Amino acid sequence: MSAFAQPSDPIVIIGAGVFGLSTALHLAQRGFKDVTILDKQDYDEFKYSYLEGCDAPSADMNKIIRAAYGPETVYQDLSFEAMDLWRSYNDYIAAGRDLPAGISQRDEIWVNSGNLQMCGQMDLPRFERLSIENMRKAGQRHTQVVVTEKDDVDRAEKAGFGFAVDPFGRRQRNKPYQALLDTSGGFVYADKACRLVLHLARRAGVKTVLGQEAEFAGYHEDAQGNITGVKTVGAKTYPARLVVVACGSWTQQIVPDMDDLCEATGGSVAVVQIPKTHELYERFSPHNFPTWTYKMRDGAEGGLYGFPVDENGYFKIGYRGTKYTNPRALGTEKDRSVPVTRWSKPDSITRIPSQALNRIRSFLEEFIPELGEAGLHITFTRLCWYNDSFDNHFVIDHVPRKKGLMVATGGSGHAFMFLPNIGKYVVDKIEGKNGGALDYWKWRHLEPSQKAVNVLGEGRQSTRALQNHRLYQDDELVLGGTAGLSKKSRL
Ligand SMILES: Cc1cc2nc3c(=O)[nH]c(=O)nc-3n(C[C@H](O)[C@H](O)[C@H](O)COP(=O)(O)OP(=O)(O)OC[C@H]3O[C@@H](n4cnc5c(N)ncnc54)[C@H](O)[C@@H]3O)c2cc1C
Repeated sequence: MSAFAQPSDPIVIIGAGVFGLSTALHLAQRGFKDVTILDKQDYDEFKYSYLEGCDAPSADMNKIIRAAYGPETVYQDLSFEAMDLWRSYNDYIAAGRDLPAGISQRDEIWVNSGNLQMCGQMDLPRFERLSIENMRKAGQRHTQVVVTEKDDVDRAEKAGFGFAVDPFGRRQRNKPYQALLDTSGGFVYADKACRLVLHLARRAGVKTVLGQEAEFAGYHEDAQGNITGVKTVGAKTYPARLVVVACGSWTQQIVPDMDDLCEATGGSVAVVQIPKTHELYERFSPHNFPTWTYKMRDGAEGGLYGFPVDENGYFKIGYRGTKYTNPRALGTEKDRSVPVTRWSKPDSITRIPSQALNRIRSFLEEFIPELGEAGLHITFTRLCWYNDSFDNHFVIDHVPRKKGLMVATGGSGHAFMFLPNIGKYVVDKIEGKNGGALDYWKWRHLEPSQKAVNVLGEGRQSTRALQNHRLYQDDELVLGGTAGLSKKSRL
C-alpha cells in the first residue's frame, strides 16, 4: 500500500470552515471519490450566518482580501491565485445556473473595493514599503497607491478608486494621514462564499454530515494506534484512510499535540447599524468606501480594521490589537485557550472586553464623528476565534507519530481569502508533495533562537486572558456622547 492516500481511499474531513471546505472541493476535483465532511454545525439550516447561530470565523458577514503582503511573497502569490478564482465564482453566480439556496444571480460575492492600510506615522512603515517593492517585482506596482504621492493618487483616480484614497476625509479635517491603498484588494461576503463552496463540493461528489450528531466523539484506531476513522456524537463511525482535522480554534481539543504550535485567540468585532434610508448609508457602501486597516502591527494601540456597510446596513469594525485568550485548566500544569462564543454551550459570551470596545469607539469618534453626531451607536458585538500559530503561518501537515491523521489549520487571521485555493495545497500534501509554500506550513516547533510572533500558552496569569478583563457595559456603546439611547434598540 502506498504511504499516501489514493483516489479510491475514504477521506474524512472534520470541519466545514475554510480549510475543510476547500480541501474537500480540491480532493473531489482531483479525482478523490470517497470524501466526507463532518461538522457539528448545521450549515444547511444556519447558512454560515453568524447572526443565525454559527460561531466559526468562517461563518461571518465579510472578510478582507488583499494581495499586499509586505515581505511575505508566498501569500502575495497565493492571493493573486485566489483572486482569479474569486472572480470565477462571481462569473459562476452571474451565469445563474445551479445556485445554492440563498444566493441569487444578482449576488456578487467578491467585491474589488480596494484595501486601505492606514499607518500611525507619516513615514511608510517597512511592511508597506516591502509591499510596494514586492508588488513591483510581480508587475503590480500600479495597484499600490501611496496616498501622499500625486502620481499614485492620479492613477488611482483614473482607475476608479478615487473614493478609496482618503475615505475618512482626513485631509479635509487637517489631520495627519498616511496610508497605502491596494487597489487589487477588497472583500468577500463570507457566509455566501462558504455556501457556494459547500455547494460546489457537493456537486463534485463530496458527502456532508452536518449538525450535532456529526460532532467528533473520538478516533477509531487499529491495534498499532493508527487512525482508521472517526466516531461521532451520533454514535456512528466513519472509516477513513486519512482523517483531516480542520476545526479552526477547536483543533487543539482534538489534536492536543498542537498546543505548542497554535492557540485559540479571541478577536473583537463591533457593528454599527446604519439604516438603508440613512444619509450615511450611501457614503459607506462598497462602491464609495474601501476595506481598511489601521496600525495593524502596532500592538494593543492599533490592530483595527473594517468594511463597507452590507445590505443589512451592518458596518463592521474589528479590533485585533489584543489577542484575547480563554485559558481553561487541563488537569496538568498547562492551560489551553478554548473558544467561547455567543452560541457556545454551556457558557456563552455576547460581549467583548471593554478595552476592545473603547479602542473601536475611540477610532470611530476620531475618524467618523458623523456616526455619533447622527445618533448612531454600536449595535452589537462578537468575540470571534482565531487559531493563531506562533509564526502566523498556516499548519498543513501529517501529525507526527499518528499515521492516518493530518491537520489543516492555523489560519492566524488571514486564511479566509484563500478559501478558493488553500485546499489545492492540502491535497498536494495528501499526495505526498513538498516544497514551495508547503514548507512554510509544516508541522514545526519554535526554535530556541526564534522569536514568536504570537506568544502561546501564557495561561490564566496573562494580561490577555479574558478572566482578567472587564466586559463592556451598555453605556459604552454610545458614540460621541449621544444622549437618550434606548436599551431596547440594542441587541
Ligand atoms: C475576527 C476575525 C476576523 C478575520 N478576518 C479575516 C479577514 O478579513 N480576511 C481573511 O482572509 N481572514 C480573516 N480571518 C481568518 C479566517 O476567518 C480564518 O482563518 C478561517 O475562517 C479559519 O477557517 P478554519 O476552517 O480554520 O476554521 P473555522 O472557520 O473555525 O471552522 C472550523 C469548523 O470546525 C467545526 N468543528 C469544530 N470542532 C468540531 C468538532 N468537535 N466536531 C465537528 N466539527 C467541529 C466548526 O463547527 C467549524 O465549522 C478572520 C478571523 C477572525 C476570527
